[in-house]
Amino acid sequence: MASIRELHQQLVSKARSATEITTAALETVNKLEPQLKSFLTITPEQALAQAKQVDAKIAAGEDISLLAGIPIGIKDNLCTKGIRTTCGSQILNNFLPPYESTVTTKLAAAGAVMVGKTNLDEFAMGSSTENSAYQVTANPWDTTRVPGGSSGGSAAAVAADECVVALGSDTGGSIRQPASFCGVVGLKPTYGLVSRFGLVAYASSLDQIGPFGRTVEDAAILLQAVAGYDPQDSTSLDVKIPDYTKSLIPDLKGKRVGVIKETFGEGLDQVVAEAVETAIQQLKELGAEIQEISCPRFRYGLPTYYVIAPSEASANLARYDGVKYGYRAEDAESLMSMYTQTRAQGFGAEVKRRIMIGTYALSSGYYDAYYLKAQKVRTLIKQDFEAAFESVDLLVSPTSPTTSFKAGEKTSDPISMYLSDLMTIPVNLAGLPGLSLPCGFDAQGLPIGLQIIGNVLREDQVLQTAYAYEQATDWHQQSPKVCA
Ligand code: GLN
Repeated sequence: MASIRELHQQLVSKARSATEITTAALETVNKLEPQLKSFLTITPEQALAQAKQVDAKIAAGEDISLLAGIPIGIKDNLCTKGIRTTCGSQILNNFLPPYESTVTTKLAAAGAVMVGKTNLDEFAMGSSTENSAYQVTANPWDTTRVPGGSSGGSAAAVAADECVVALGSDTGGSIRQPASFCGVVGLKPTYGLVSRFGLVAYASSLDQIGPFGRTVEDAAILLQAVAGYDPQDSTSLDVKIPDYTKSLIPDLKGKRVGVIKETFGEGLDQVVAEAVETAIQQLKELGAEIQEISCPRFRYGLPTYYVIAPSEASANLARYDGVKYGYRAEDAESLMSMYTQTRAQGFGAEVKRRIMIGTYALSSGYYDAYYLKAQKVRTLIKQDFEAAFESVDLLVSPTSPTTSFKAGEKTSDPISMYLSDLMTIPVNLAGLPGLSLPCGFDAQGLPIGLQIIGNVLREDQVLQTAYAYEQATDWHQQSPKVCA
């Protein structure tokens, strides 16, 4: 379980080559994939070729970046030129993107070694990775359970050491909830910090790409590599990116931390509540000033999200019509039946459900009652956060109300599945940075996650708080069963 810094040290001191590190990661992938199914596509040739380039640089005495030679997993909704990108959907079964996403372009330039594309809920819609059209990823801590979702493949791969770090995307919790279920660190950055160019759109006003790592530092290093202005994403923020690793100081003296009152109470597992409360005590011991904060409109986050996200999805997914790219139904008798059959056969049940909800919410006569209303409530939720950040620097809550559930347990009950993201969704609606890190285990040995929320562009403070807590605890040093 080496960290990026340890591996970097091994590389520059020539104790180990990038080829050796990559080969070891690929061996772990081959060994664990029959059980875990974290990856939809494994790319050993490209990985070894990239590793070879890094080794050549080292041999030539050139400086290498921290990520050079580091095995990484990429969620399969990020376009990789010429490498199958399915989004977990049949409709993109044969899709080979003609271009590369900005984040993977940056990672390739840094010398990171992509070992494969990770599994996800179809079009990132889900909380368990069970909505993938291809396979169900297992939780490395208990393979009868889900890894969370929608970035479940990335979270499981990092937890099980199939790669060192991974990228995911988070629209309502899809990085933080699987990080919590798999006992790793996951960060959703401020909206606009990381370019979405080449990320297959789900709900464009909420989607953000972010890192998974086994430690806060690993996540910070990956964030550093992908953050920054990109003219190819019109919502990208043109701001100076600080050195995130500089904020990793294990001291919280004077930091004002608010505990979101509304995230405790009904629906929250007792064991999760206790672990988070203990973590808050530890933050206090590290010097933080703790106060209770009320975000009264927080509870409207879930219904608001389930109007806005499907509305945007219904527009974004209109492009899959069997004409431009992706799957096309055969034997259709007319253009219209080709469209309808393509979409009926190509999309899974959850995606269809959201397209229908979104189309309904946007239709004339209902637009004001649903979509416009939801946008207004979104503003109110944002205002709750703004008010909170007048008296505190950071907010904390549980990441998810429960620990990982059994595969199949919630598949026939969408509402109970949606509730998994109760505490993460408001953060996306407000565009704020949020991180999940391990803060305990339940009686079955399943990880529990603590969510730390920062003000706009205060990833530095979020990372500092997470780092201080991590250094004072040893949750991140535990390994899942599947690695034993
Ligand atoms: N689970 C939520 C959903 O199903 C969030 C997904 C995400 O963040 N991509 O939409």
